[in-house]
Amino acid sequence: MTTYIRLLDDKTINKIAAGEVVERPASVIKELVENSIDALSSSITIEIKDGGKKYIRVTDNGTGINKDDIELAFLRHSTSKINNIDDLQNVMTLGFRGEALASISSVSQLELITKTKSDMSGSQLVINGGIIKEKNEVGCPDGTTLIVKNLFYNVPVRQKFLKSNNVESSYIGDIIYKLALSNPQISFKYIKDNKMILKTPGKGNLISTSYSLFGKEFVDSMFELKYSSKGLSIEGLICKPSFTRGNRGYQHIFVNGRYIKDEGISRVIEKVYKSLIPINRYPVFILFIKLSSNDLDVNVHPTKTEVRFSNRDYIESNVFTCVKNLLTTNNLIPEVILES
Ligand code: ADP
Ligand code: MG
Repeated sequence: MTTYIRLLDDKTINKIAAGEVVERPASVIKELVENSIDALSSSITIEIKDGGKKYIRVTDNGTGINKDDIELAFLRHSTSKINNIDDLQNVMTLGFRGEALASISSVSQLELITKTKSDMSGSQLVINGGIIKEKNEVGCPDGTTLIVKNLFYNVPVRQKFLKSNNVESSYIGDIIYKLALSNPQISFKYIKDNKMILKTPGKGNLISTSYSLFGKEFVDSMFELKYSSKGLSIEGLICKPSFTRGNRGYQHIFVNGRYIKDEGISRVIEKVYKSLIPINRYPVFILFIKLSSNDLDVNVHPTKTEVRFSNRDYIESNVFTCVKNLLTTNNLIPEVILES
């Protein structure tokens, strides 16, 4: 009997799966920085060269990876963050799928240097295209450094699909801004082609973080939002109607610390501003929504930028109310306009 169907080997599976998590250099940075955040770092430095296509380095001062866990971290579906499906109900970390390191290491030349507080020395691991090339003991500070070189060097079709250095850098900048905004307690540094692009103070304050990212005019054009209702809190900055933009790129929504895309929430806010701003202009906002993790499904998509709310109507109507209240308190909308 001849069979034509066969199970793919792990290396091939990882390379295929990498397509879902790792689309471009910016997605590598998102995954690495989220790992650094989950590792309770207070300082994270991101360095890139050539739009991140040739070189990405993320250094943190977090927990580090245990010597005995180092190789495990690169296996698919290996994670220290959940044990079973029930834990998904309460997941508080950004990662939990155990896919990023396996995926990234299968499509790049990667180097890991890491040390936990309790280990006497650090470890270095070099992996090329999913194959371990070197493992050494090294001296290094507590924390983790990941260097990702030549992304997609072994997947030419993916490499071809990457855009110019400038375009890739702009995706990277965007993701770093979002990560920095959602983590004002962490000091972020971003170095691009040997030039320091941004540095946030890491003092835990959204206004000082926004100031360092977007400047004085931005901060002066925002109202501070603080609102809570049963099982839900909404905080952030939202623009005065005079400060709008021509697209939705300046709307940032975070749910339980996770950056998400959610057109429903954007539309609700736009509805409040509708009568106050010109057509084809969009309000600018940074919105942090916090709710019980039971009311949220974060496991909708591998990149986790879409979530499902168990009670979307409740969230949307509260977003509407709090934004409306804020603008009304500041005498920007007469009640009647909103009655539609
Ligand atoms: P996930 O984040 O979904 O758990 P990853 O593949 O991104 O999966 O990482 C695998 C594991 O490696 C993590 O669960 C964590 O234990 C460890 N790890 C990765 N990056 C870091 C880091 N910067 N600091 C400490 N531990 C890390
Ligand atoms: Mg991760």
